Amino acid sequence: MGLSPEILTNLLWSGALEAFRAAADPALVAKSDRHFPQFATKNLREDGTFEIGVNNDTQVEWFTDFYQSELLKALQTASGGNDTVKAVKFVVTDVLPEPPPTPEIPPAPPPEAKAQPKPTVVSTTETVAKRRAAIAPTLHDSYTFDNFVTGPSNSYAYAAAMAVAKNPGKNAGYTPLFIWGDTGLGKTHLMEAIGHKVWNDHPGAIVCYCPMEEFINQLTNAIQNHTQLAFREKFRKVDLLLLDDIQFVMGHTSWQEELFNTFQQLTLQKKQIVLTCDVKPSALPGFESRLISRFEGGMVVEIESPSFETRYAILKSKSKALPVTVPDDVLKFIATNIRSHVRAMEGALNRAALFIEQNPAIPLSVEAAKRLLKDNIEEDSAIRNLSVDDIIKHTADHFHITVQDIKEGGRAQMLANARQMAMWLARKLTQYSLQEIGIPFNKNHATVHHAIKTIQQRLDVEKALRDDVETITLNLGRKVEELGL
Ligand code: ADP
Ligand code: MG
Repeated sequence: MGLSPEILTNLLWSGALEAFRAAADPALVAKSDRHFPQFATKNLREDGTFEIGVNNDTQVEWFTDFYQSELLKALQTASGGNDTVKAVKFVVTDVLPEPPPTPEIPPAPPPEAKAQPKPTVVSTTETVAKRRAAIAPTLHDSYTFDNFVTGPSNSYAYAAAMAVAKNPGKNAGYTPLFIWGDTGLGKTHLMEAIGHKVWNDHPGAIVCYCPMEEFINQLTNAIQNHTQLAFREKFRKVDLLLLDDIQFVMGHTSWQEELFNTFQQLTLQKKQIVLTCDVKPSALPGFESRLISRFEGGMVVEIESPSFETRYAILKSKSKALPVTVPDDVLKFIATNIRSHVRAMEGALNRAALFIEQNPAIPLSVEAAKRLLKDNIEEDSAIRNLSVDDIIKHTADHFHITVQDIKEGGRAQMLANARQMAMWLARKLTQYSLQEIGIPFNKNHATVHHAIKTIQQRLDVEKALRDDVETITLNLGRKVEELGL
């Protein structure tokens, strides 16, 4: 006896979920935790199309972009690789998604979730609720204004972000808001804080957070599939567009064209745009001048490295969300010794907290913290002290060539290869901007960007290249994990 279509669909779906989780990019899996519960119906049609019912056209567009190909693979894996599922299609349906089952004993929320409630759908009418659910932005729960500690290094940026969040799109002087600064200093946090506030205070507002890499991926797909119109529609009907790390579009005319047009449209409609970048607008030479003047025509704010007081205040604030109490002198010890960026301080704080949790009977003294956090501290000072010249020297040694060969050597394949590798390593292992990395090579931003992209793509397929960069990294006294390979 064959299985009923409902049972078959359910079986397939649960198998596919497992396959999807195992195979898809972790960032996509994290996103799916919020999106999949919004699937209202699932139906395997006789022609092999697995149809997923969602609430509106926006969801159809977004979910198709995000999940169609991965879900097809997962469903095919779940069905044992035969022809049961031939396609995945998102369609609009009137059926509301089932609310998630309420567990009998609610699990204790993690401390972070307790302290920072997620943006939730608060509207009473079903249509607004449906619309809100469809467009819920994917923001980190904890990246709110409340959790952002201010000090001299970031108070100007904070004030500008708050002004924008209170009156998105209403103040021409703030469009776009351009937040720039080094890695790990809170740009994404501040940008998402704007997203949370607008989302919470303006029911009905469409908030879109998009890392620039994702914008480019979607654009590239749209160009390949001839769906640019849908792509444009999607980005041009938002009320608040948050584009993170825009330095990625450097040197690409068609991407910049699309970005510029999106800007024009949103500005005309008095919508708000917020951008983050690792350098200031005028230091983006791979960018068209009309885009740069657009950026400069808005509000440009910098986040600088925090002072000791701000670092300590950030640690105090982060430690409140932990399940254990980290002694004050340990917090001060971390704030004094870890200075490269806030993310590195968080790493040290979490390690200290874990130790306290696992050893409740042993008080964590500063002396003990010094031993416990030895690696964090060494890594931090290596991050702060490693220069691009050190990397060039080690790369040259590895290939038995001279520093001069790397810096000035012509286009001979071997030299060009070593030069690009050194640039890629500098990007991974230091905090320098693309422009700064270019200085010892006498190359501009766009060239460095191109080199990094070239190496990144080759690393996917060339094992020997991976071995080279890993060896050089170890010779520099750094960890291979830092390369993110
Ligand atoms: P960026 O986007 O500039 O690389 P992030 O926004 O990802 O940096 O910040 C890195 C980490 O540091 C995040 O966990 C963020 O919450 C934290 N952080 C940075 N600045 C602050 C701050 N002023 N207050 C609280 N947390 C901060
Ligand atoms: Mg960021």
